[in-house]
Amino acid sequence: MKKALLVYSGGLDSTVLLYKLKSEGILGGAISVNYSQKHSKELFFARKNCEKLGVDFLEVDLRCLRDIFGNSSLVDNKTNVPAAMYEETVMHSTVVPNRNMILLSIAAARAISAKCNCIAYAAHSGDHAIYPDCRPEFVNAMAGALKVCDYTPIELYAPFVNLSKAQIIAEGAKLGVDFSMTWSCYRGGESHCGVCPTCVERKESFKIAGVPDPTVYSNP
Ligand SMILES: [Zn+2]
Repeated sequence: MKKALLVYSGGLDSTVLLYKLKSEGILGGAISVNYSQKHSKELFFARKNCEKLGVDFLEVDLRCLRDIFGNSSLVDNKTNVPAAMYEETVMHSTVVPNRNMILLSIAAARAISAKCNCIAYAAHSGDHAIYPDCRPEFVNAMAGALKVCDYTPIELYAPFVNLSKAQIIAEGAKLGVDFSMTWSCYRGGESHCGVCPTCVERKESFKIAGVPDPTVYSNP
């Protein structure tokens, strides 16, 4: 039987996946990593949602990773998170180098020790343009490595890889996700800033999905 460990950020996409795995009866636990992201507030929501669903939750403190992530605007206090209207080259500052390979690798170790035979993560098509480690070719390559990293294969389950964020929101609405208990903003302030790339994507996706957006934006 499939038992999945979720790589869980506390963001919108992985929260919908948390509910989906729970509804499919295959949720074995969730793991979050503090990699010194400015928006570590997301980890609060990860913990809360796991408590609500009665899911085993582990938060790993890897803030030392800041030293290897250079000037990615998601971790470096000297580099500002851009507003969404900036061009693609500026958007590249929001890439955290090879983050998902690191997270999936840590999750694999946890999955093996926690007797989970599957790792789930919520890569989606909206991230393909900017983030190489969310693309199908990356997912397929990691799936190959996870098959052979232990005595028995670990499956990589990325059911949203070809879905848009709006489609994920629609799925979440069906599953009864409380979207106010998810965090997207890269700037990690008191409330969602409303202008950074992920805030703008969040706002637009709720509109496209036709689902009410409960998020409080400081710049609506
Ligand atoms: Zn924001």
